[in-house]
Amino acid sequence: MSIGDILKKLQKEILFLLFILVLLLTFLSVRKAIATSNRASFVYIDVGHGGFDGGATSLDGTILEKDVTLEVATYVANYLTKTGIKVKMTRTTDKALAQNKKEDMHKRVNLINESTCDIYVSIHANAYSASSIKGAQTFYNSFNLENEQFATTIMKYLQLIDSDNKRVAKNITGKYLLDYTKKVGCIVEIGFLTNPFDLELLTNKEKKEALAKMIYLGILDYLEEKNHERSSIENK
Ligand SMILES: [Zn+2]
Repeated sequence: MSIGDILKKLQKEILFLLFILVLLLTFLSVRKAIATSNRASFVYIDVGHGGFDGGATSLDGTILEKDVTLEVATYVANYLTKTGIKVKMTRTTDKALAQNKKEDMHKRVNLINESTCDIYVSIHANAYSASSIKGAQTFYNSFNLENEQFATTIMKYLQLIDSDNKRVAKNITGKYLLDYTKKVGCIVEIGFLTNPFDLELLTNKEKKEALAKMIYLGILDYLEEKNHERSSIENK
């Protein structure tokens, strides 16, 4: 290894440490803000795929979307719970919600719609034929303006983990979950299992936790904004 390589490696490590520091400071300030708002929020986390439905896979077929989504979603749920936010997940084990995909999707939508949750987030990972394609992204349905605000807030935090990620929250229709869920929410595609950079984020434990923390911070930021709006209306 040349000195240049060592310096490059060192620089990368320092950047990562700095990133963790910024993360921690943001985490502490947002946690303080949420602790001072008096209304307990309820977040539904939809954990993409499960059981017979593995979802997307890495190029060598060893990493399955259903496992990555469960792990990241569990981290997000734990962060939220520790902050005093009520959380429910559509699954907590490697099981589908029904025997087939259509029923499984119906169940997810019904669970969220029939709950009293304030918002929902559906966690997925992507795959693409060209391995150069990368970057986490949020998707929302614009039938409710709040969906855009929520998806944009989470996207802002996802970009902190990958400065090359220029993706923006995207408005789409034709996604069953987004089209039929009546609550405010979005889909978070946490990265491409087919891209080496993203795969590292999705398989390294610390990086997965950092990624989950970004989603968590996005949720907190949005909820804090809504609680603030609500209390300023109530105080009028
Ligand atoms: Zn998926």
